[in-house]
Amino acid sequence: MYSIQAIQQILQAKSPNLQFYEAQIEHLLLDSRQIIFAERSLFFAIKGTHHDGHQFLSAAYQAGVRSFVVTKVPELSQFPEANFLLVENVVQALQQLAAHHRQQFPLQVIGITGSNGKTTVKEWLFQLLYPHYAIIRSPRSFNSQIGVPLSVWGIQAQHELGIFEAGISRKGEMGNLANIIQAKIGIFTMLGEAHNEGFSSKAEKLREKLLLFAEVDLLIYRRDDATVHRAIKDLGRKTLAWSLDQHPNADLYVFKTETFLNHTHLEGRYQSSEQRIALPFTDHASIENAIHCWAVLLHLGLKSEEIAERMAQLEPVAMRMELLDGRNNCLIINDTYNADLSSLRLGLQWMRQHEHGRNRSLVLSEILQSGSSDEKLYRKVAQLIQEHQVSRVIGIGPATAVFATLLPREIHQLHFETTEALLEALPHLSFQSEVILIKGARQYHLETIAQALSRQVHQARLEVNLSALAHNLRAYQRCLKPGVKTMVMIKATAYGAGSREVARLLEYLRVDYCCVAYADEGTELRQAGISAPIMVLNPEAGAFEQMRLQRLEPVVYSLEQLNNMSQEALPHGVHLSIDSGMHRLGFDLHEMEGLLDYLRTHPELHVKSVYTHLAASEDPAHDAFTHEQARRFNQAYARITAVLGYHPLQHALNSNGITRFPQYQQDMVRLGIGLYGIDVSNTLPEPLQVVLSFKATISQIKTIAAGETIGYGRRAQAHSLMRTGTISVGYADGLRRAAGNGAFSVGVRGKRAPILGSVCMDMSMIDLTHIPEAQTGDTVEIFGHDPSVQELAKILATIPYEVFTGISQRVKRVYLQE
Ligand SMILES: *Cc1c(COP(=O)(O)O)cnc(C)c1O
Repeated sequence: MYSIQAIQQILQAKSPNLQFYEAQIEHLLLDSRQIIFAERSLFFAIKGTHHDGHQFLSAAYQAGVRSFVVTKVPELSQFPEANFLLVENVVQALQQLAAHHRQQFPLQVIGITGSNGKTTVKEWLFQLLYPHYAIIRSPRSFNSQIGVPLSVWGIQAQHELGIFEAGISRKGEMGNLANIIQAKIGIFTMLGEAHNEGFSSKAEKLREKLLLFAEVDLLIYRRDDATVHRAIKDLGRKTLAWSLDQHPNADLYVFKTETFLNHTHLEGRYQSSEQRIALPFTDHASIENAIHCWAVLLHLGLKSEEIAERMAQLEPVAMRMELLDGRNNCLIINDTYNADLSSLRLGLQWMRQHEHGRNRSLVLSEILQSGSSDEKLYRKVAQLIQEHQVSRVIGIGPATAVFATLLPREIHQLHFETTEALLEALPHLSFQSEVILIKGARQYHLETIAQALSRQVHQARLEVNLSALAHNLRAYQRCLKPGVKTMVMIKATAYGAGSREVARLLEYLRVDYCCVAYADEGTELRQAGISAPIMVLNPEAGAFEQMRLQRLEPVVYSLEQLNNMSQEALPHGVHLSIDSGMHRLGFDLHEMEGLLDYLRTHPELHVKSVYTHLAASEDPAHDAFTHEQARRFNQAYARITAVLGYHPLQHALNSNGITRFPQYQQDMVRLGIGLYGIDVSNTLPEPLQVVLSFKATISQIKTIAAGETIGYGRRAQAHSLMRTGTISVGYADGLRRAAGNGAFSVGVRGKRAPILGSVCMDMSMIDLTHIPEAQTGDTVEIFGHDPSVQELAKILATIPYEVFTGISQRVKRVYLQE
């Protein structure tokens, strides 16, 4: 804890306060919606490209926060008991405070950077070393200019080892992070091929990344990339270089790798002694990441036998939480890959974000964290549980029995020695309209609890990666001129992704407007708790009362519609759609006089926006026509505003238009397919991420004799002995029959398996002859990363929009957050 006066001195901040109000600071806060320990939090009002933390000062104050770091002091009368620290740059102040905090502790620190693998190497080092050291590490992939200071702020006296990752996107950033992390051991994972926007060349990117290691005592890296090797030698630090089969003189020379069905044997030489380990992985990236860890363990002097034993038990790092529909209106948050204080805190935050009035239950395994005594550790856990207003706690494992003495009686408590014991008891416990966070270390296998509690439905599922969706939103927003608003398209259940969760996320990310096709879709959003303005593209004549009640804003596209509407039904304003050449819905240009007359005679009609829709914004062949549409639209807009006497929002661009026609961004853009990961025109400066993955499961595997046929109509035949898999997805789920008969291949264990014969209603058969490692229960990817939806769409002679929205409602939507 730091007193506010101490922080003022560390930051050398000015203050308008003559005298500080008493405040001891324990938590750093960047988002006014994540307040838990209000009085002990210091709010940093960070200015982003689209939001300014200063806008949320009073929200934070009302929630009880009393200490703020700002670049501009607000009207003090509204903050009678607040402390303001005035600085020039709020992010720098955050970094300065973290760097100061770091300096107070003499712990050993490992700093990790590189293009890929940072988080895996960090998590694996934790898995390998936690029995030996009291470890603090970055939560998930907190590696940015803001994530690193927040990670380092968690260091406490009992910690012996810190493991922090650093990621940068432009020149000038790594110096800041190096200063905060102050690493003694460095790990450089690898250098990716691409050079990002923020760097002039790959060489510059490398030089910048290596700044993390300017002061390390030892730098661990792979010797086999000549560019990296040379640049690291130039640093002049002591190194531990490893090589895979190329450089016998490397400090750790791995001369033998032997891959089996699901594990890999490695043999190497370190300080002239032979070393041997086995890994439960076979892919190149995992092997490379594991060797980095191996080098660390050797350097730290762990015994060979112990290293081998621990490496064999490495667990995959699945850094994501799943949101599942539960029985009885429950929502299950499956967060079962690790359990430590910082990830528990994130899980609880997520629970708050998704509870929407439901009770909060927590299923928690023992916490893996050595260093502090159980008593002290669980006291902290108990405090978190209370602060997040959890109403029921189910503890698993002997150590969680202490909650009985640590938690107040109002919090309902249950305790089980093992996961199996809870599984057995589950049918006797009642869960009703609650959000259940299931949080545990991997070895407790709490995913079995999540499965038991979630609604049993058909096995095909559509995974919606919310983190990728957020990334894509930001990618487009970075292309907007300052002040341009964002409307997001949530029509057709958010392009198939599911409107509620998508809209909640987008509202949380503070988009300006939502847009749906029908009034019912808007009502559904209101019922899901969305309060942002909602535009309705196709308002049905009978739905005006509903729209008034639900604060929905209809689009008006004809005089007939205007004449049939009663004004009272439109207290929230309307949007005028202008047909500039698409010829779908909208006022025709030759109807403009009639529209203008109506507006003249009805000054009480509140026009929120005037927009048009482009017919071919993605296609250069039609650019002349697009410019013509814009010209017609601008002319219509000018005539309308001349009559109205005010300027409603003007907007024209859909996803593809945003990057291809920045000159027409006007007041707002309407972002649709781009959010869901498709950039048809390929003009966005950074790649979009895959949001939707359609997956099924292998239900059965068969061996088919030569000559036998497969499926309806006997359209596929085995020419020799064949291995087939039956998967749980058919045309009723949205996998069209045109994908059958070998036209399309699905992804299984990183390989491709052609669809055999006809796609059935609920199932399909695939060829697994060349994938002997495939087993029943394996996940099959219909589209997602590989194959991509574009590939499937092409084979079906359609576009991704149609594939997404064609996935049937019975397919379970699963939401992921990384
Ligand atoms: C669907 C729609 C959009 C979004 O289009 P995308 O190509 O998905 O970005 C924008 N405006 C209107 C009027 C739409 O109907």
